[in-house]
Amino acid sequence: PTAIFWLRRDLRLHDNAGLWHALNEHARVQPVFIFDTDILGALRSRADRRVDFIHQALRQLDAALRRHGSALRVYVGTAEEAFGRILQDFAVSAVYANEDYEPVAVARDARVQRLLAARGVAWHGSKDQVVFAQREVVKDDGQPYTVFTPYSRKWKSRLDASHLQPWPSEQHLANLAPADPADFAAPAGGGLPELAALGFEPTGLVYAPPSVPAKLLRAYQAERDFPAAAGTSQLGVHLRFGTGSIRALVQTARGLSETFLNELIWREFFQMLLWHYPQTVDKAFKPAYDAIAWRNDVSEFERWKVGTTGYPLVDAGMRELNATGFMHNRVRMVVASFLCKHLLIDWRWGEAYFAAQLLDYDQSANVGNWQWAAGCGADAAPYFRVFNPELQAGKFDRDGRYIRHWVPEWGSSAYPSPMVEHAAARQRCLDAYRKALESA
Ligand code: FAD
Repeated sequence: PTAIFWLRRDLRLHDNAGLWHALNEHARVQPVFIFDTDILGALRSRADRRVDFIHQALRQLDAALRRHGSALRVYVGTAEEAFGRILQDFAVSAVYANEDYEPVAVARDARVQRLLAARGVAWHGSKDQVVFAQREVVKDDGQPYTVFTPYSRKWKSRLDASHLQPWPSEQHLANLAPADPADFAAPAGGGLPELAALGFEPTGLVYAPPSVPAKLLRAYQAERDFPAAAGTSQLGVHLRFGTGSIRALVQTARGLSETFLNELIWREFFQMLLWHYPQTVDKAFKPAYDAIAWRNDVSEFERWKVGTTGYPLVDAGMRELNATGFMHNRVRMVVASFLCKHLLIDWRWGEAYFAAQLLDYDQSANVGNWQWAAGCGADAAPYFRVFNPELQAGKFDRDGRYIRHWVPEWGSSAYPSPMVEHAAARQRCLDAYRKALESA
């Protein structure tokens, strides 16, 4: 009999809780990955950097498995179709996976669990992608926190060494199922298909393994708000796909940067919120804000997307996003505020555009931060705080280095004048928000 370990948002062999449990409890563990056609089919671009990232991470993982005499088994289809085939390919004794808390993933896992239960196969879920899961840091009365500061206080007070203990899965790889050379010689035999066979193209993405130098963490608080400085970790994608371990990262961060630790706690705060309030995927956390009369001008939305608003910090951010899949956090806040408040375009439009573009896209963080920027989220920026994109540029890109890099024509006649005037747009926004809140 073979135990299956289903890799999802945990693409690593070291310090992997679910893999550790599988390897400890079974002498023959087969790692599988499913290219879920429900997910791939919804992607808008064939040149999707996330698919490329996953593909590169899987290639490395497969090479590592082969060094241990095993190999990754890859399926393409819906999760249920894939498990139908897995149950034919192996005498499956149990299925192990790390928990995924996104609403769509929770529903998918429930369907797979039902399918397995009908065949008498047990499912084992482990907590791996967070230090504290959804119900572990709640108010004394059991209710979820909706404000960050008390949540983070409780999070820190609960933390002890046991929560950061690694799960040394890498020490038990002798229990991996041996690869059958005939099976794995060709992709058709269940190995990793080429990107093209999945319907995708290489994107030029260069896979950089996760690393967080102590020097960066020590300087984090002073540097993190300046987009021209390489002052943030760029670990978002590694936390998204589990190519780095959150426990190891928290362990490193503790003692070096409280500010950085707080950002990791924001990540868990938003995951916790989306789990308790799944309707906030596309509804305002504060329902009154769903009454805002968004202008939703399509041509203005286009100018925001391509970065020709005439506000250089906004344009630089959008061009950085389009070119790299990344945007600095300070600039994400400015472009999001500009879209919702200056242009009065629905935050859901911006959220969807980021979801299609961001390499580190994470539903809970994206929805949570967009609602924060629009003022409609839990613990959000007050609606009457409207960032002035020019003041933000003056403060955080003083010498214009970031802007010039992404908007080389800035300052020349080729650069457009601002598409809206700040004071007028601000007033229009305040009027629209007030009207919605008064009518609620
Ligand atoms: P660092 O500053 O080095 O932070 C380290 C890690 O902490 C990040 O990788 C991330 O996992 C976590 N983190 C930091 N800030 C936040 C935050 N505000 N909320 C939640 N987690 C945080 N982050 C995502 O991971 N995915 C998203 O889809 C996403 N969408 C965003 C949309 C908007 C409108 C805004 C304003 C922010 C968004 N963020 C998102 C949060 C933040 O901008 C990114 O996590 C950060 O810029 C990633 O770069 P980094 O890894 O260098 O961050």
